[in-house]
Order: sequence, then structure tokens, then C-alpha cells
Amino acid sequence: MTTIPQPGPKKLGLVIDLDTCVGCHACAVNCKEWNTSGHPAPLTDFDAYQAHPEGVWLNRVHTYEAGTGPESRTVHFPRSCLHCEQPACVTVCPTGASYKRAEDGIVLVNADICIGCKLCSWACPYGAREFDDDQGVMRKCTLCIDRIYNENLDERDRIPACVKTCPASARHFGDLGDPDSAVSQLVAERGGFDLMPELGYKPVNKYLPPRRRPAQTAPVEAPPPASGTGATVLRWIDRVLSR
Ligand code: SF4
Ligand code: SF4
Repeated sequence: MTTIPQPGPKKLGLVIDLDTCVGCHACAVNCKEWNTSGHPAPLTDFDAYQAHPEGVWLNRVHTYEAGTGPESRTVHFPRSCLHCEQPACVTVCPTGASYKRAEDGIVLVNADICIGCKLCSWACPYGAREFDDDQGVMRKCTLCIDRIYNENLDERDRIPACVKTCPASARHFGDLGDPDSAVSQLVAERGGFDLMPELGYKPVNKYLPPRRRPAQTAPVEAPPPASGTGATVLRWIDRVLSR
């Protein structure tokens, strides 16, 4: 069993806006690209060009239809590690390979001592762990730790690859332990919520709920009968267009 360190004040994490996410998967693809191209965590793929390709993805986007009738809407739900404050994925780890950093709260896997027992993936209720069959070790979102502290990168690029690439600005990164940070204020303003708080894992990442839609507009009036004068038709067009 691995112990969790005394938490520090800094809690780095993501805020994901379910209202503006358009489900384009750019975040997932750029995550894969960044984490595959470098040496620290090459993400493996099998049968990439066959009928049933498989591979390691640290960020996946799921799409659901929520609600019914006129109230229904499509919700895109990006899913990755939430860097929980009480992560059972860490406490179940028999070797200490899974650990939580005291200095910023990031949950990581040390691949050098991971024995691939998969206990952590059973313990994670969010399905955020991905087993790398090729290397026999567990992988997960690192919050792009090799970007956010990388002084060789331009300061604007020291954010996770998923945040950098999102074309809808649906992903935000920052310190959720600081109530004055931009991400904390966004959560406060928009009613950001924890995923499955009843489990007690206390995720650091937050989701912003979809906004309510404006009330349905009144049904469009039927056009006047064909026998109506030109002036009547123009008045009808004017009424419809001026709504
Ligand atoms: Fe662990 Fe899962 Fe929480 Fe990430 S989301 S810290 S893998 S329990
Ligand atoms: Fe949603 Fe942004 Fe990811 Fe596209 S890149 S799926 S908009 S979070």
C-alpha cells in the first residue's frame, strides 16, 4: 500500500466546460501526439491500420444524448485523470509506482517500478487509467508535467497539450487550490462540479455544466394563402424576419 502525502496548498488541475465542448477530439489527439512523440511516455498502438485498432489514450471524449424531446441535447464529455485528493489508485499500489505529489497534487505513475498488476485501474472509478500492453505498465494523464514546468518552452506553451489545442476554449488549466485563480473563479461563477462526489475521491478537476437553453421561440406563422396581395406577403415576411 502506498500512502498519500500531506496535501500542499497547490492543486493543479483542469476545468472542462461541457457547454462549449464540441466533441471534436482535438484534445485527445494532441494529448496522444505529445505523449507519443517524446521519450518519457510513448503510447503504444496495435493494429493501427486494421479493422479493430487498439491503443493507449490518456484522454478520451464520449458523446451522449441527454434529456428528452425539445429539452434534449448532445453532451460531449472529455474524460481523463482527475488528480483526486483521495486517490485509491495510489493507496492500492503495492510498489509505490502510483504516487501523488505533495507540491502540486499531480498523480503520476513511475513506470520503472510499476509491475503491471492493474490494481490501480480497478480502484479508479473514473476509468482514467490505461494499461500499456506493449510495455506492461500503467499509463495515465500527467497534466503534461513535461510541458507545464518546461523552461525551454515559450511561457504561453507551458500548459497541457489538450488545453493548448482545444479550438472551443473548453479546457482550462490552473491552480484549483488558490481561490483567486482564474480556474477557481470560473468554477465559482459557473457552478463547476465534481464527478461522482459521493465516492469521496475528491477530484481536483472540475466540470462546468451545460448552460440552460433559451426558451423555445414561438412557432413560425403559416404564410398567407396564395391569393393574398403582394403587400400582405411582404408584411408576413417582415414579421417573420423581425422576430
Ligand atoms: Fe487515480 Fe482515477 Fe482519481 Fe486519476 S481519476 S487520481 S487515476 S482515482
Ligand atoms: Fe471538446 Fe475542446 Fe476536446 Fe474538442 S478539444 S473535444 S472542444 S474539450
